Amino acid sequence: METKIIKIDENNVDEDLISEAVNIIKNSGTVAFPTETVYGLGANGLDENAIKKIFMAKGRPQDNPLILHVHSMKQVEELVEEVPDIGKICMEKFWPGPLTILLPKSNKVPDIITAGLNTVAIRMPEHKIALELIRKSNVPIAAPSANTSGRPSPTSAMHVIEDLMGKVDLIIDGGTTGIGLESTVLDLSGNLPMILRPGGVTKEELQKVIPNVSIDLAIIKENENIVPKSPGQKYRHYAPKSDMMVFSGDIENIVENIIKNTKKYIDNDKKVGIICTDETKEFYKEGLIISIGSRNNKETIAHNLFNTLRLFDKEDIDIILAEGVELSDLGIAIMNRMMKAAGGKVINV
Ligand code: AMP
Ligand code: MG
Repeated sequence: METKIIKIDENNVDEDLISEAVNIIKNSGTVAFPTETVYGLGANGLDENAIKKIFMAKGRPQDNPLILHVHSMKQVEELVEEVPDIGKICMEKFWPGPLTILLPKSNKVPDIITAGLNTVAIRMPEHKIALELIRKSNVPIAAPSANTSGRPSPTSAMHVIEDLMGKVDLIIDGGTTGIGLESTVLDLSGNLPMILRPGGVTKEELQKVIPNVSIDLAIIKENENIVPKSPGQKYRHYAPKSDMMVFSGDIENIVENIIKNTKKYIDNDKKVGIICTDETKEFYKEGLIISIGSRNNKETIAHNLFNTLRLFDKEDIDIILAEGVELSDLGIAIMNRMMKAAGGKVINV
């Protein structure tokens, strides 16, 4: 399949170029496009044939449901049975933005979207290109991250090209994505509001609106044999080609342990990559050392994480040793992605 690539400026969205993408969506094709979280791979969310193409291109397991992206509250109404008051409040406060809301689905939503579940995941992205594409297509757009399943999510068009060239109809290059991590998935379908995947909207921010919101423990404790409530969370995800270990705890202990392990692996002829932070970079002398930002600025760490994992892939690193961050605010989402990337190998020091 031939994949066309077009560039669109988010601050000056070219109507003709968007129309080209809209035509593809209307003809059951696939379009990768930027959002404020990561790049999405979009197709008409009401068209089963089009949705199948997303699963094919990504190699995504059929039991992992997709998020429907909307441009208006009105669009939500036909996709769900009913929007509870707390849902309306969350939509008003956090949309457009990195919050995905799960609600009981209407009959209009194809089963392939929800992987047979009776809830549907919906989000309104905060990105002009994404919103224009959805508005002009006039359908909800199903869009998981535009990467090969299991690989780090794409935060630039180059990442999408690496994974999906020849597998999708169109890639819209709209620059790098702002947040760099996926949306928070919030389940409002039951009695207890629960975060099923941490993401761009933090638990602390949600608590201001929903004081009793809880978090699915399975998403921060990989080794505890708890089955996650969101199907996507049970897979190894975001994975670099190399092995990876995350060190968590007191920062001095983290640095000491990474230095010790770097030496051990290098003595065994392994190529070591280190994910560190601005505050600790000077302590490391061996290995390929990349700082993902300041420990005082989790937004930057989130923004850089997936790109850094992909950089190490290009360097043929054997093992990545990564500094963990504290489990608060965006740190919960960052640690969740690092933990998944490392296949659960988190070492508390
Ligand atoms: P992605 O768009 O690839 O970043 O992933 C979407 C995430 O939302 C995955 O972790 C899915 O398992 C989750 N998700 C989507 N729909 C549902 C649903 N109906 N119930 C539970 N989780 C869902
Ligand atoms: Mg994904």
